[in-house]
Amino acid sequence: MELDANAFARNSRKALSDKALQEALGRTTGRFMLHRAAAVAAFPGFEEARERASAIKMDVLAHLDAYLGRFVEEAEKRGVVVHVARNAAQAREIAARIARDEGVTLAVKSKSMAAEEISFNEALEGAGVTVVESDLGEFIIQLAGEAPSHIIAPAVHKTREEVSLLFERHLGEPRTDSIPELVGMARRHLRAKFLSAGMGVSGANFLVADTGSLVLVTNEGNGRMGAVLPRVHLAVVGIEKVIPRMADLPTFLRLLPRSASGQAISSYVSIVTGTKRAGDPEGPERMHILLLDCGRSAILEGKYREILKCIRCGACLNACPVYQSVGGHAYGWVYSGPIGAVLTPLLVGLPGAAPLPDASTLCGACAEVCPVKIPLPDFLLELRSDARDQGLKTPGEIAGMKGYAGVMKRAGLLEAIERIAGVLGQFFTKGKAIGGMPYPFSGWTERRDFPVPAAQPFRKQWKIRRGVTR
Ligand code: SF4
Repeated sequence: MELDANAFARNSRKALSDKALQEALGRTTGRFMLHRAAAVAAFPGFEEARERASAIKMDVLAHLDAYLGRFVEEAEKRGVVVHVARNAAQAREIAARIARDEGVTLAVKSKSMAAEEISFNEALEGAGVTVVESDLGEFIIQLAGEAPSHIIAPAVHKTREEVSLLFERHLGEPRTDSIPELVGMARRHLRAKFLSAGMGVSGANFLVADTGSLVLVTNEGNGRMGAVLPRVHLAVVGIEKVIPRMADLPTFLRLLPRSASGQAISSYVSIVTGTKRAGDPEGPERMHILLLDCGRSAILEGKYREILKCIRCGACLNACPVYQSVGGHAYGWVYSGPIGAVLTPLLVGLPGAAPLPDASTLCGACAEVCPVKIPLPDFLLELRSDARDQGLKTPGEIAGMKGYAGVMKRAGLLEAIERIAGVLGQFFTKGKAIGGMPYPFSGWTERRDFPVPAAQPFRKQWKIRRGVTR
């Protein structure tokens, strides 16, 4: 996928004025959050599972080479061919070679963000292979010629009306606004592809070191069908997805669906262990796993290594007020929301994604919902500091921040400025909230009104309240 992260501000302006996108985001992110909150409230062991999952992932990061080595050994014992790609170009070359050597002309693919990272579809199409996306959301955006805009809901930016229009144009289906009917149309179209594809392509939610298994967590069953129906199965997976033992899996399964979609368990959890054995009713004759490094080893060595704990649940996207407003495409690459604002600069380099760490109000909602306790706001702040050190901040931004820090360190000065601002605010607003203020306030007041300042400063109100309660 082409990198466009430095255009975040321009992309955001476009997103904010896109009515269909705003409607689609309004319908979905809030619903995800409500479902997540209900699922978490109904499961008293959630916090304990978070602690445990975070600890398991920290152990994995401390011994990644050993756990990966064990995974490869166990997978190879079961007939799997494991490949490792250092970078995206190498990964594309390996994927195309596998398809050519296996004589594949049609592949059905389930959702994989790792595959998006390396522009997998383009690589296979360059090798003469037709790739059909089989996840409903991915199928929709493939028809639209777009990239995913959410980790777990790639077509979250599309309304049902837009989807129906696409199905009419590309599949010759009649127009409808019934979601079950739209799903039925996609199912009919995809079933034939599953039955004729030579290769199924998937990602993996987890790689289990002690059994050499891949774990696929889906709601549509397409991952399972792609993994067992075609003759060849290829899984494209980041190296950080390994977990030590099968016994660790339940901890993550308690967290992932609840965090992602508010489900206690997803519709399908598939554990794929090796190729088809004698007597197995189904399964791939040949199986390849393409492990992606693509910058992960470098992250592992540095101060942001905890970002590799991410299990790609998407909860931080749904909780983020910036993502809720601009959607995923504004972030200009594969990953969006708070995880994208941290991970993209780390994977592609800060100069290629400099605005992303600033795409946050630092409200902390992302860290509150993250099931593996990644300190996302801390990382965003640290990346802002790195951007300054790398000369990616303007002199005006640096001077502004220095001035802000200088004031915040002096309580008396801050109080004096607050008093003056309160008086000026009362004078200019004349008791009414105002919008559309000129620069330098235009960025704040373009889309929301400047509120009337309180009649008394907070400090004064606080003193009065304390006096009353004493
Ligand atoms: S950073 Fe945390 S909340 Fe965000 S996708 Fe990853 S695991 Fe989920």
